[in-house]
Amino acid sequence: MELNRQHLSNRNLNLVLLAIVVIVCLYVTPGYLAMRRPEALRKGPGVTRIAHLSEWFEGIKGTAGDTDVYILDSGKPGGSALILGGTHANEPAGYMAAILMLENAVPAQGRLYIIPHANASALTYTDPMEGVPREFTLQAASGKRVFRHGSRATSPMNQWPDPDIYVHASSGQQLSGSETRNLNRAYPGRADGNFTEMIAYAITSLIRKDSIDITIDLHEAAPEYPVINAIVAHERAMPTASGAILNLEIEGVVMGLEPSPASLRGLSHRELGDSTATLALLMESPNATQGRLRGRTDEALILTGKDSQYVRGQKLGRLFVPYDEKGWPLHLRVARHVGGLQAIFAAHAMTAPERAIVLGGVPTYDELATKRLEPFL
Ligand SMILES: [Zn+2]
Repeated sequence: MELNRQHLSNRNLNLVLLAIVVIVCLYVTPGYLAMRRPEALRKGPGVTRIAHLSEWFEGIKGTAGDTDVYILDSGKPGGSALILGGTHANEPAGYMAAILMLENAVPAQGRLYIIPHANASALTYTDPMEGVPREFTLQAASGKRVFRHGSRATSPMNQWPDPDIYVHASSGQQLSGSETRNLNRAYPGRADGNFTEMIAYAITSLIRKDSIDITIDLHEAAPEYPVINAIVAHERAMPTASGAILNLEIEGVVMGLEPSPASLRGLSHRELGDSTATLALLMESPNATQGRLRGRTDEALILTGKDSQYVRGQKLGRLFVPYDEKGWPLHLRVARHVGGLQAIFAAHAMTAPERAIVLGGVPTYDELATKRLEPFL
């Protein structure tokens, strides 16, 4: 009798636990599935074609890596450029700058390729234990727009397990196993490599097959990271980058210049510069959401960049960017990227006028800094 009662109460406990699991699953599933739906972007007036990345490498066709490539072709002779946003899907200023460009730019000379979500798989989840929101909202001119916020690396749903040590294929360089899913350690990629290496290979193939003159990879970094508010340039891209920094200085925008380290392998500015003819550049803006000193991590932090701990960090001299109570809002970070892109194209047009990329319709740094992003989305 006693045993029966014990058996019955265990069974009830099991049923209660099972019911809790079912309720939790029902509660989180819609949010989880929503992260896997492609984000709706507006096709700007300059977009002449939307392609899939698999057009340049069949191996990723139909996978989560088969991201959209927006082509803006002026139809007039000139150069070509590739803008990569969302290499790291937790660096929103990078992909928002790419989105702003594809929704506004109208090329007058040359051809522009924009991949707003270079690692689309990384946009399908957020990092566990980081408490980062999965989306943020802007009251844009075209209506309320919700943009997703993802993770630094390819989703484990698409590539798993990580090895203990990641070995970069073409150099043999060894890194922590989690870097296996980092697109910006996978270049130039491999056709028969892992999922992330295949995405890198597809981007490298696009650059080779379509003879892309300039490639710019847009990133953000924690304010305590030394390479920040800077252009990182492959040695062949140094003259263009230096010209761009002077152009930005005329506009009152201070940007650092960092040479791409020859010994750090797998990064876009190193490998694309070494293994293709493109001028490879990368830009960084300061993002507290990624930092280790940050306090509450919410949508407001993504949008305003205001964080009292970073103000304190600045006072203690621990940061590599100025950081005061005004923070680093998203629109200023995007303004730096968009202004930086235009400065790079202007510098390139000076050195190679026959390969110029001239864009109309793009808001200036000052316009974005004063009017914010909303009027342009
Ligand atoms: Zn990054």
